[in-house]
Amino acid sequence: MRQLLSDRAALAHQALISCRLCSRDCGVNRLQSRSGAFCRLDEKAWIYKELLSVGEEAVLNPTWLVDVGGCSLRCLYCSEWSQVVQPRGGPAVELEPQWFAGRMAKRQAQGARTLTLVGGEPTVNLPALLQALACCPAPLPVVWNSNGLVSPQARALLHGVVAVWSLDAKFGNPACAQRISGWPADVTHPDWLATARLALQTPPQAGLPPLVVRHLLMPGHLECCTKPVLRHLAGLAAEAGQLMFVNLMTWYAAPRQHPRLCQAPELHEDVREQQVREAVDVARRWLGPQLWVNGRPLPPA
Ligand code: SF4
Repeated sequence: MRQLLSDRAALAHQALISCRLCSRDCGVNRLQSRSGAFCRLDEKAWIYKELLSVGEEAVLNPTWLVDVGGCSLRCLYCSEWSQVVQPRGGPAVELEPQWFAGRMAKRQAQGARTLTLVGGEPTVNLPALLQALACCPAPLPVVWNSNGLVSPQARALLHGVVAVWSLDAKFGNPACAQRISGWPADVTHPDWLATARLALQTPPQAGLPPLVVRHLLMPGHLECCTKPVLRHLAGLAAEAGQLMFVNLMTWYAAPRQHPRLCQAPELHEDVREQQVREAVDVARRWLGPQLWVNGRPLPPA
């Protein structure tokens, strides 16, 4: 595994000469500067949070959760906004491979059974993360927690490295995706489906499902986003069987004062109970035992 990681890290580093790691397809030279990179990153990655977490899906816990700055989207409701737009801003520290290896050993000793890479978006940090993983004598199974804007090149670099793809399926149509997340207009929607299909080719490791897809129920988006996403997922789940799980998250909390939300006023509301009931009911019918709600399997109806 270490040789594979080190080979992939070298290839990913080379890819930065004309970066197309995510679907933004910037084509800039990140080895020279950050200029022109939508993610605002050069070759370095910046960690702004790390902890032993039991807050992910039950099957992944306890996990060593590592947040890296920078992203390929700008979701208006993002809780990590400052680290997304300023990946190097405090409290971020540069990812240093030897520190990463030492901290992984410590978290393993504390009980971590997986490593969850999140942010921001790990894909835009791929070369530095692979380099850090290559320095770990016995890396934990990697959970790649991504918005799904992963280019074919990045998917190939991650194939065989990632144990669990944890993908966010945020929107059910391109108009909502563009208005709320700044989704690139020229990128096929939904882009995460191709990544999900690749994930399903991953042999299961250590009792982990290769694919978890998350969907956050947003106020006023049951018909335009949640139901179309669930429809896509029902098709995928029928192909995949128990290799995939869907986590329907119903805890959206409106950030009441945020000026960014003037572009999406419906996101000032809370999700109504009626919307939650309907979403869970539809998801249960379409997905059956592959459905989790807020990270836990549902009890039988
Ligand atoms: S990772 Fe994505 S956003 Fe960043 S420079 Fe490369 S293509 Fe652009």
